[in-house]
Amino acid sequence: MLRVGPLFMAKRDYYEVLSVERTATIDVIKKSYKALALKHHPDRNPGDAAAEEAFKEASEAFQVLNDPNKRAAYDRYGHAGLDAQGYHGVGDVGDIFSQFRDIFGQDFFGDVFGGGRRPRRDQPQRGGDLRVAVSITLAEALEGVKKDIEIEHPSPCETCDGSGAAAGTTRQNCSMCGGRGQVAQSRGMFVMSSPCPQCRGEGSVVTKPCESCAGRGEVNVRRTVNVPLPAGIDDGQTLRVPGKGQPGTRGGPTGHLYVTVQLEPHDRYQREGEHLIYEMHVSFPDAALGTEVTIPTLDGKTTKVKVPAGLQPGDHVVLAGSGFPRLQGRGRGDLVVIVHVDIPKKLSSKAKKLLAELREMIAKGE
Ligand SMILES: [Zn+2]
Ligand SMILES: [Zn+2]
Repeated sequence: MLRVGPLFMAKRDYYEVLSVERTATIDVIKKSYKALALKHHPDRNPGDAAAEEAFKEASEAFQVLNDPNKRAAYDRYGHAGLDAQGYHGVGDVGDIFSQFRDIFGQDFFGDVFGGGRRPRRDQPQRGGDLRVAVSITLAEALEGVKKDIEIEHPSPCETCDGSGAAAGTTRQNCSMCGGRGQVAQSRGMFVMSSPCPQCRGEGSVVTKPCESCAGRGEVNVRRTVNVPLPAGIDDGQTLRVPGKGQPGTRGGPTGHLYVTVQLEPHDRYQREGEHLIYEMHVSFPDAALGTEVTIPTLDGKTTKVKVPAGLQPGDHVVLAGSGFPRLQGRGRGDLVVIVHVDIPKKLSSKAKKLLAELREMIAKGE
């Protein structure tokens, strides 16, 4: 029986389809196919049946010429040689994406079209990085501290190694996007690719879900990581703890944990860079005559601050080397004591008299 019509159209010569010589190398063939795939890609030509056909035709030609066995059979016997091998072409567009990802590596179509496709679940994947904030006191920042940080995060399910598929089953190509993970949508003049809603951009779905994780491929874990925070660490600084992030799947490496430090405010002390700031008050006779004041330190002890005679309001007394250690470089910052001089608001009549005398003496330069 003779079949006619478009279903049985004579196939074009594969070399002709890819516009390459019969002696072309694989690299030349690949390059040519990439250019054609880009030109006729369905995402770029939505609803254009001719473009889709051209895309499929080029893909089939590439699939055959890229395979040494198929190419040899084709070179010798033409299309009949492939029929004899049981080769029936590339199937639909979705099949092309999933098959050709294996040929080019998973990023081929992502590279070419910039689609934010999620990585495949059947290949090793690095675990995600985790970020946490931890708050510490000024005293802890001054001395350094080891903090137990409790983190909770999704982790690949160990039962199914992150695939989400029940034992003995595998993930199947998504029917909505044909395994591409992306669907094309027209917005006015533009065609946008967006993640497929059915497979959430993964290109594959679970037919029988893993019981441990209900098909999610991940479970929530809670664990405690002991993180040493070095003396001198400051507010807003982030520490990287290698290998303490989410575990990878299929032998992929573990991610990192990033710990950002927040300094709790202190009643009496403040921090300015490597310096520790303390504010205190002295009476004006003390400022004039000089004195020694005992102040509390961050570690709960006390230290003595010598106020020199003739100190002016707002002057600083510096205790060198009593501040924070410098993270880069040597030494420490200072403890800077800002001294406020209090002027009495209420005076007894006796004190008033003495002050008035003092005023006269100072005016006379005595
Ligand atoms: Zn599971
Ligand atoms: Zn899908």
